[in-house]
Amino acid sequence: MKIIKIGGGETINLESIVEFIKHLCEPIVVVLGANHLRNALAQKLGVRPRVLQSLSGVSSVYTDEKMLELIHATYSGIRRNQFVSLCQAKGVNALGLSGIDGGLIKGRKNKGIRINENGKKKVIRDLSGRPQKINVSLLESLLAMGYTPVITIPILDEDGFPLNSENDDIVSILANVLDADQVVHFIEAEGLLNTDGQLMKEIGREQLENLTESLGGRIKRKLMSLLKIIQNGATVRILDGRMSDIITAYNSGKGTTITTITVGEKDYTLLDETETMVLTAKKSEIYLERASGVYVYDQDGKRYLDCSGGWGVALIGHRNSEVSSAIVRQLNQITIAPSNHRNSLREKFTNYLLSLMPQPLNRVFLSNSGTEAIEAALKFAICTTGRDKIVSHIKGFHGRTLGSLSVTHNRLYRRPFESLLNHDKVEFIPLNDLKAAEEVVTEETAAVIVEVIQGEGGVHEASDDYLKGLRKICNQTGALLIIDEVQTGVGRTGDLFAFERSGIVPDILCLAKGLGGGFPIGATIVSEKIEVPYGIHGSTFGGNPIACAAGLATLQTIIDNELVENARTKGELIRKRLIEITNNISMVREIRGRGLMIAIELKKSHKLLVELLKSEGILTIPTGRNVIRLLPPLVITSEDIDRIIEAFKEVFLKLNKVVAIL
Ligand code: PLP
Repeated sequence: MKIIKIGGGETINLESIVEFIKHLCEPIVVVLGANHLRNALAQKLGVRPRVLQSLSGVSSVYTDEKMLELIHATYSGIRRNQFVSLCQAKGVNALGLSGIDGGLIKGRKNKGIRINENGKKKVIRDLSGRPQKINVSLLESLLAMGYTPVITIPILDEDGFPLNSENDDIVSILANVLDADQVVHFIEAEGLLNTDGQLMKEIGREQLENLTESLGGRIKRKLMSLLKIIQNGATVRILDGRMSDIITAYNSGKGTTITTITVGEKDYTLLDETETMVLTAKKSEIYLERASGVYVYDQDGKRYLDCSGGWGVALIGHRNSEVSSAIVRQLNQITIAPSNHRNSLREKFTNYLLSLMPQPLNRVFLSNSGTEAIEAALKFAICTTGRDKIVSHIKGFHGRTLGSLSVTHNRLYRRPFESLLNHDKVEFIPLNDLKAAEEVVTEETAAVIVEVIQGEGGVHEASDDYLKGLRKICNQTGALLIIDEVQTGVGRTGDLFAFERSGIVPDILCLAKGLGGGFPIGATIVSEKIEVPYGIHGSTFGGNPIACAAGLATLQTIIDNELVENARTKGELIRKRLIEITNNISMVREIRGRGLMIAIELKKSHKLLVELLKSEGILTIPTGRNVIRLLPPLVITSEDIDRIIEAFKEVFLKLNKVVAIL
C-alpha cells in the first residue's frame, strides 16, 4: 500500500496525479495540501496570516480561529472537492475526509512557540498541534471497500476541537500505522536538490540523517518526518508533481528515492526469491505485486488477465471487496479461536455452508488447504469403517502430503516417497470404468475417492453413470464415497457442487481453493455415518475466525450475485468461441470442460503457447505435457472473454507463422 502526499502548490498537476493513482491499482491513501489556495483566499478576504519566527529560526503561520476557517474552506472544502471529483471522473473511487471526520486523526496541541517580541521572550500558543492517533479501522474498512481516502487537515485536539497540523507529520504516522511500503511526495521541484542545486537521485538512511543534522528550520522538520517514515521500513519517493506524465516518470525512476538501505555501503544484498526459497515449482520472471478482480499486475504495472485464477483460488476475483471487508472486520474482533471453544462467526459460516449441502451431509471439519481436507477425509473413513484400503483413480490428484499423496496417481510426485505410501493399501482404477470398480471395491475397502472432474489430470470428467455406479458399489460393500471438489467446488463448474448433476450424494465432500475467496481454508464435510473419537484429528489454525469470515463472505457473494449461473454461461461462451477460432488450427486436439474449468488439449507441448499467452497478458495453468487449463474467476465478463479470445487468436497466428518458417 502507498501513501501519496500532494503538496499544495499552484502548479501541481492534479490530473496527472490521478492518472498515476489509477495506474497503481493498489490500496492508496492520499494526503492533500492546499497552502497556495489558503493564502490566495486569505488575500481575497483581506486576512493577513501572521507569521511567527521561533527562537530557533523556524517560521510558521499562526493559527487562530480565522486561519482555521480558511483551512476548513480550502483544504477540506474547495481543494479536496476539486480533487475527489477529478478522481471520480477518472474512475478512482475517492472519498474525502478531514482529520475530524469519524475521529480520523487525533492530536495534541503544541506547547507553544518561543518568540522574541520587541526584545522580550514570549511563548505563544495557537490552534496547531501534532497528530498522535489514527482511527486505523475506519481507514482499513474504507480501503477494504475499495475507496481511496483523501485526507485533509484539520485534525482533532484532545477536547474534540479542530487543530491545524503539518501534513508531513500526518503522512509519517499514517505510513507507520498502515504499514505502507512507500510514500510518494509530489512537490513543485524535480526532487530533493543538494546545495549546488543538483538533483539527489537516491539517498540512504545515513545520508538523510546527516542532511537533517546539517539543516535547520522548516526543512529540518520535513526531513525528520521523512526519516521517521524510512525508520519504519517504507521507502520515500519525491517526485515533481507538475509533470504531465507522472506514470512514465515514476516507472523510469525519476525524482529522489529515499531508502532504508545505506547507499554506497552494502548493508545487505537483496537476494532473488529463487535463491531464498526451496524451489518446488519453476518460477517465471514475473513478480505478482497487485491484483484486482480478474486482473493481476506485475512489478512494472503490466496487467494480466488471470485465467489461472491463482491456481483456482481467486474464485470470485482477486481482492473481492466483500471478502476483504469481512476479513478486516474480523481482524478487529478475534483472529484465533481454537476449536475447543465456540465462536459465533464460525457458527454462522458452518451453518451457511451446511445449508447449501444436500442431506445427509450435515457436519464439517475445517482446515487450511486442499491436502488437509483430503487427509481428514481419509482418516475419518478409516476410523469410521475400521478398514484400511482405499480405491483411487488413474490421473487423480488429491494433494502432496503423505496421506493425500498416497491416493494421488502421478508417479512423478510419489516416486521418492513410495516406501512411506503403503501402496498395497491403495489401488488405482481408470476413471469411468465401472467394471474395474466392481472388481476392486470390496468389503475391505474403507473408501473410494474421486474427483468429479480431474483437474491436474487434464480436465477429464467422471460420467454421471460412473458416479451413480460408484455410489451403488459403495452402498453394497459398506465403503464410503469421498468426492474431492477442492478444485471443482463452490460454483466453478456451473453447479454449486459438480457432483450435484449426477444426483448422488457422497459420504464425504472435500472443499478448499476458492472457498475462502483468496484466504486459505479447507473443509471436509461429512454425513451422519462418519464417527471419529476425540483427539484422533485436529488442526491449530483450522476454522480460525478470519478464514471463516472469508468463507462466509465468499459463499454469500456467490449466492447473492448468481455467480454459479455466470460460470455456466460464461464457460459455455469461452468454449464455443475457442472451438470457433481453433477449428482450423491443427495443433489443437480438443477443447473441453464444464463451466469455468476449461482445457485446451494440444497435439504437442504447451510450452510455447503458455509463454506467448503470457506475453499477450493472459495467465494460464499448464498441466501435463500438452494441456492448458483455464480457471478464470467467476466474475469474468463478456469483455474479458473478448480479450482472452483476441489473445488466443493473436498467439495462434504467431504460432502458425513459426510452424510455417520451420
Ligand atoms: N485435490 C484437488 C482436486 C486439487 O486440485 C488439489 C490442488 O490442486 C488438492 C486436492 C490439494 O490442494 P492444496 O494444494 O490446497 O493442498
